[in-house]
Amino acid sequence: MFTLLGVNPINSTIFAKIFAVNFKKEIAKRRTFGIISHPDAGKTTLTEKLLLFGGAIQEAGAVKSNKIKKSATSDFMEIERQRGISVATSVLAFHYKDKKINILDTPGHKDFAEDTFRTLTAVDSVIVVIDVAKGVEEQTEKLVEVCRMRKIPMIVFINKLDREGKDAFDLLDEVEQKLGLTVTPLSFPIGMGYDFKGIYNIYEKNINLFSGDSKKNIEETIAFDDLSNPELEKIIGNKAADDLREHLELIQAVYPDFDKEAYLKGDQQPVFFGSALNNFGVRELLDCFIEIAPPPRDKKAEERMVRADEKQMTGFVFKIHANMDPKHRDRLAFVKVVSGTFERNKPYLHVRHDKKLKFSSPNAFFAEKKEIVDVSFPGDIVGLHDTGNFKIGDTLTEGEVIHYKGIPSFSPEHFRYINNADPMKAKQLNKGIDQLMDEGVAQLFTLEMNGRKVIGTVGALQYEVIQYRLEHEYGAKCTYENFPVHKACWVEPEDPKSEEFAEFKRVKQKFLAKDKRGQLVFLADSAFSLQMTQQKYPKVKLHFTSEFD
Ligand code: GDP
Repeated sequence: MFTLLGVNPINSTIFAKIFAVNFKKEIAKRRTFGIISHPDAGKTTLTEKLLLFGGAIQEAGAVKSNKIKKSATSDFMEIERQRGISVATSVLAFHYKDKKINILDTPGHKDFAEDTFRTLTAVDSVIVVIDVAKGVEEQTEKLVEVCRMRKIPMIVFINKLDREGKDAFDLLDEVEQKLGLTVTPLSFPIGMGYDFKGIYNIYEKNINLFSGDSKKNIEETIAFDDLSNPELEKIIGNKAADDLREHLELIQAVYPDFDKEAYLKGDQQPVFFGSALNNFGVRELLDCFIEIAPPPRDKKAEERMVRADEKQMTGFVFKIHANMDPKHRDRLAFVKVVSGTFERNKPYLHVRHDKKLKFSSPNAFFAEKKEIVDVSFPGDIVGLHDTGNFKIGDTLTEGEVIHYKGIPSFSPEHFRYINNADPMKAKQLNKGIDQLMDEGVAQLFTLEMNGRKVIGTVGALQYEVIQYRLEHEYGAKCTYENFPVHKACWVEPEDPKSEEFAEFKRVKQKFLAKDKRGQLVFLADSAFSLQMTQQKYPKVKLHFTSEFD
């Protein structure tokens, strides 16, 4: 009987059905998200507390911060060592209740903002952490803007309530104004700093009293459906009770009710308050998160919309991590599974190379470990060992030609010519530059006029990382030369055959370059010249990101 199972058509339909049901369950279980914040707002601390809830780690301090603390440019090994740590924390997966949660690490350091932007293409939702005293900071603004443009569902967590900070209503205003969000608080603080008494959970209708005991993992909550109940005075005191009632009335009057659909569409952002360090308000955040945050979402490819529950596997590379050990030059490519199941040893089409590849040891990530997995589901991140086949944005499928959209480049902040300092090693230099650019370390622009190469980076730190890596990994030497650029703009003429475009190309020849994908880029040398160019050539559109439609 058993041997017949595989060929019996009735049984195989039953198996197919069981598989389909399980497949959908696996998708529904997954929550893949990123935590974004300005450095020091508490992203690492919050991540750690979330992992504690999932039982993925046993104690605080287990999650390493991958912050670049030094900006000393001499100590590259330190930079690399610190960056290296982020391999371990690139994906942190854990189980909580009946969900499988994948947290994707997003470096907060602004020199690595590109990394974070790209990671945001692989998340289904985000949690934004804001420091109660500092409010909305620069890096948060930039990252939230990207999420807003992409309509990624966001939950805001206002952290460090155990410290004196801004008034909660003022903060909500600031979040709305500076971040362009439409917020609705789902919890609200009772006092703050020295007077911090706890949090009223609007979503669950209960009070969580603050004891300042950071070792406490599970907090006790007091159910409180009806705030007019005089018990409230007994628990938090007369003044705090009056204030809380007043605040909640105001919230009801001013803020819209929580609307899950609006949240999922990116039109409304629920806000929680708490203190990650004290593990306070974190459970509330997590419980609400697993309930409302979206499971793996359908994803738009250039060719069509791909549904997560389609049987055929599709996935894309959103991050490549180099092995810092020069003896082992392989890299780890991180693939987000968008649809179907990713299986070990099954051949997949590398769409850009039009070639089938098999992977004998795909890695899955659990808290700080990585292990080989046989099957991964949509929403999961698979780490593939790579010897130079992949670049960021590459797609893997079961045969269909699919290109995932959504990994744009932004204008770098710094630009320098890169020169070969060892004529015998030109080949190595070019290979090194090529591979480092594939990893997304920086952007390469080749000038139209003379073919010279210009490297654009978000932070000055990357130049030294590149120089160091070229020398140690590729045996090539380079020098840099300043190239003053205000902004790189991607050029899109309304009519490529127009007189206006021809003139633009002629007059601006000196400032035109091709990026790595062959797109035309205008390197404006000042804000003024950018403005003048826009006025003079209104039918030549200048975009600040490489992706537009
Ligand atoms: P990240 O840069 O966003 O990852 O921030 P970290 O998690 O490393 O936190 C930065 C600093 O803030 C650390 O010293 C934390 O201990 C501290 N911190 C984080 N959460 C809280 C909190 O709720 N209250 C207080 N008082 N400090 C916190």
